[in-house]
Amino acid sequence: MAHPSGARYQLGGLEFAVLSDGTFTYDAGAVFGIVPRVMWERVVPPLDAMHRLTLGLNCLLIRSEGHVVLVETGVGGKPHDRDTASPAEEGTLMTALAALGVAPEEVTDVVNTHLHADHCGWNTSGSGAEGDPVHPTFPNATYHVALQEWHDANHPNERTRATYLERNLAPIADHVRLLDGDGAETPITSEVRFLAAPGHTHGHGVVVLRGGGAIGEWGLFTGDLAQHPVQLERTPWVSGLDVLPLVSMETKKLLMDRCIDEDALVIVAHGAYPGVARMTRTDRGFRQLVDVPPAS
Ligand SMILES: [Zn+2]
Repeated sequence: MAHPSGARYQLGGLEFAVLSDGTFTYDAGAVFGIVPRVMWERVVPPLDAMHRLTLGLNCLLIRSEGHVVLVETGVGGKPHDRDTASPAEEGTLMTALAALGVAPEEVTDVVNTHLHADHCGWNTSGSGAEGDPVHPTFPNATYHVALQEWHDANHPNERTRATYLERNLAPIADHVRLLDGDGAETPITSEVRFLAAPGHTHGHGVVVLRGGGAIGEWGLFTGDLAQHPVQLERTPWVSGLDVLPLVSMETKKLLMDRCIDEDALVIVAHGAYPGVARMTRTDRGFRQLVDVPPAS
């Protein structure tokens, strides 16, 4: 089966490609939390036999100022990474990178919006068997992650420990740059920046792309600001997976209104590939995503 890959977009002088690590299926009730099913089932595609939604696993590759930046690393390809709800043959991130002519050694920066297992799986590779230790997939990269998220992932509680996996974290410990997440945009390069966006987790962030100074020449990669795109349109549709649901609601409102006012590209991490849209406002005042096709 062919997997979608390599959709390219332009933001002023900055080009980026959307890469896919396949799909991820997740219980729809968990995704929609306290929103009644009669409301959300009208606006989502059919669920599978286990009542699960199919979510995209969109990652970004950006060449900027001599850096090769990878945003998110999907579910991964190590033993057990794809045991739950993601077909093994769909671990396509490395194939997609290779198709763009990028070797793992060339990646200079990896940005994780947070460290749940569906966002940082390819941070590491290796079976863990003798002679094949789990190791950083991108040996020359700095891995950028919020200080709070790194702390929480390494001190999981009863609720979070199923998704904060030691095999995705410990091998990169010497390669991590911890971001303090004080509310300002933290540069990876001047064009690619990390911005704290708490709610899904305390230390969750989004990635801001700035291709130029003009309106419309920037973009926002959502991470898990929402799992389903419709949740970005509807402020109170907060995921049941969020650790801080009320904070999540405020963060979403602030960022989505800014995306409308300043005409940003919104890149939805779990949207159907490539998951790129602009947020608009309807005549009746509701937020509405409008898909944007790739430039190539
Ligand atoms: Zn996720």
